[in-house]
Amino acid sequence: MRQSKLFTKTKREAPADEVAKNAQLLIRAGYIYKNMAGAYSFLPLGLRVIEKINRIIREEMNAIGGQELYMPSLQDPELWKKTDRWSDEKVDVWFKSELQAGGDIGFGWTHEEVVTDIMRQYVSSYKDLPFSAYQIQTKFRNEVRAKSGIMRTREFWMKDLYSFAATQEQHDAMYEAAAQAYERIFDRIGIGEKTHKTFASGGAFSKFSHEYQTLAEAGEDVVYVCEEKGIAVNEEVLEEVDLSELGVTREELVKSKSIEVGNIFSLGTKFSEAIGLTFKDETGENCPVIMGSYGIGPARSMGTVVDLLADEKGIVWPENIAPFAVHLVGLNLEDPEVNDWAEGVYNAFSDRGVEVLFDDRDLRPGEKFADSDLLGLPYRVVVSRKGKEAGTFEVVTRKTGEVRNLTEEEMYADFDNDPET
Ligand code: ATP
Ligand code: MG
Repeated sequence: MRQSKLFTKTKREAPADEVAKNAQLLIRAGYIYKNMAGAYSFLPLGLRVIEKINRIIREEMNAIGGQELYMPSLQDPELWKKTDRWSDEKVDVWFKSELQAGGDIGFGWTHEEVVTDIMRQYVSSYKDLPFSAYQIQTKFRNEVRAKSGIMRTREFWMKDLYSFAATQEQHDAMYEAAAQAYERIFDRIGIGEKTHKTFASGGAFSKFSHEYQTLAEAGEDVVYVCEEKGIAVNEEVLEEVDLSELGVTREELVKSKSIEVGNIFSLGTKFSEAIGLTFKDETGENCPVIMGSYGIGPARSMGTVVDLLADEKGIVWPENIAPFAVHLVGLNLEDPEVNDWAEGVYNAFSDRGVEVLFDDRDLRPGEKFADSDLLGLPYRVVVSRKGKEAGTFEVVTRKTGEVRNLTEEEMYADFDNDPET
């Protein structure tokens, strides 16, 4: 991609009303556009990041047997009345509207009811179980506050997986598989070290659920963590958790702000009983299906990465989710020889399958470097007249600031050997 053709431009200032660091940086760098509080556009660069996150999520969901589907946003009130989740008293985040033909309609804020209803068509025997299904789909929620940039919006992507089991053992195995998939997802996205599986409030059927909480000052949640022992407890349930059972004392737990990037939940038979999702067991008896639900917010995860890894110069993307691996910054391109050289490198990277953003714009070096730091691609490769004369390229690692002067062969060898690029 040539930066001269990119319709987005960087900005010196973020909108005055934007308080969250993730949104300030992402807006300035041209990854996202704020349409209004709680609603953002994902521009070409931002969409590339989200798609990489979604690809990682898909790979891990498929690896544990999740089958991808896609369910509608429009919701039938009658279905939600069966679980008593239609009224605004019970659920305070509904967006609702009316049909021209008459009657209410809702905009989906989660999909337990919908997926349970669908599965009534396909589950009749214990032989049909267990299995799981997921989607990456747009949710609508009438959030009271939307001050955390892309981490809390009123329209957002969610990956929601639902599991269906005949026995508690089957359910427990799927719950554990999902937990392990979540660990891999957050590792691959680049926030694994700071993200903890956390005891959280459960609900009707299990004492606790688990949240994936990333320790960060910008977080809206509060958790108590013992990083050494890998134990974390949401403050909401601190009183209820038996710490001695976990092998940790209250003194070892450190209070921290955190961001909930995902959660996993045992639903028991709450939804299957209310909606009538049953199967015949081996003795021919009708039993309700045991369910679980498992959510991740791709945009909240993206915002968390920005918040956690950015430095004073701008965004720092981990290689796995960077929109491009290399920022090829061309200086002195008015010199035809330098320009030819830069074009050659751009093509050579592309031929090798390395994703490159080529800053071919007619700007001063200082502006190009400032933009490059703000955009945060993992590697900056500088092509200049000076480099041309020496036969080398300046390769700068964004995360560490390490500078290497490499010949063309050394540079390609470096990228060919790097499994991430
Ligand atoms: P919170 O307590 O932060 O409101 P939640 O418990 O309502 O989150 P879930 O309903 O479990 O969240 O949604 C699953 C995941 O979707 C969350 O872990 C989070 O990553 C993401 N998510 C939830 N609400 C939002 C939102 N308003 N904007 C962006 N992502 C969200
Ligand atoms: Mg919420």
